[in-house]
Amino acid sequence: EEEVISYRQSLSINVSGFDVPRPVKTFQDLGFDGMLMGTIAKQGYENPTPIQCQAVPIALSGRDLIGIAKTGSGKTAAFVLPMIVHIMDQAELAKGEGPIGIICSPTRELAQQIFNETKKFAKAYGIRVSGVYGGMSKFEQFKELKAGCEIVVATPGRLIDMIKMKAFTMFRGTYLVLDEADRMFDLGFEPQIRSIVGQLRPDRQTLLFSATMPRRVERLAREILSDPIRVTVGEVG
Ligand code: ADP
Ligand code: MG
Repeated sequence: EEEVISYRQSLSINVSGFDVPRPVKTFQDLGFDGMLMGTIAKQGYENPTPIQCQAVPIALSGRDLIGIAKTGSGKTAAFVLPMIVHIMDQAELAKGEGPIGIICSPTRELAQQIFNETKKFAKAYGIRVSGVYGGMSKFEQFKELKAGCEIVVATPGRLIDMIKMKAFTMFRGTYLVLDEADRMFDLGFEPQIRSIVGQLRPDRQTLLFSATMPRRVERLAREILSDPIRVTVGEVG
């Protein structure tokens, strides 16, 4: 049974479950360390956006999440900030292990944007981020991945290629983000997404973000998320 939380700045949701992490109003409320707060300040972020207010505490609690919000609402930081905390809580990667965090994005351009933003937050912690999308030869990419990384930001097709080449392992992958899920479906990536998910451990944390929730995306969410909390900001698409 899915729980839905309400938040005064969001226009659309209601009905509350119990045991749902409450939304925050400020970045200070999130309990981040000085390093992360420093990077947030350096980015010029004064306050969390509505999706961040709701999604970050839920993701930090370890719960699965469906985040529905339109472009420009600040979804990247909503999943990247908790991902940094998640990774710092995990045992360090041994040689040949990794990634821990996997972000799937529909296009190379979007993946590249997420890659750049993720690096800003990861850098101070020595968390390694790899971009797994076209633009670099598969061989170059393979070599980079073999060196190890905690986070990959990927388009589904190239990620599958790298999994097939055994560029990394999947058993340490405990934080999966499917960003712009509706667009990934529009581009025909449903089989690739299912294949990626199928290779990850069932006790992973999964976050799915989408601007709209067509039936096929709903069905996937039901299949691959465990007891998710749904957050909707703005009008439901
Ligand atoms: P979305 O993925 O929802 O389209 P992005 O994560 O790309 O949105 O963020 C949109 C823009 O807002 C980016 O330029 C990002 O740096 C900026 N942004 C994100 N969070 C905040 C915040 N808390 N305060 C100010 N700007 C922010
Ligand atoms: Mg985005």
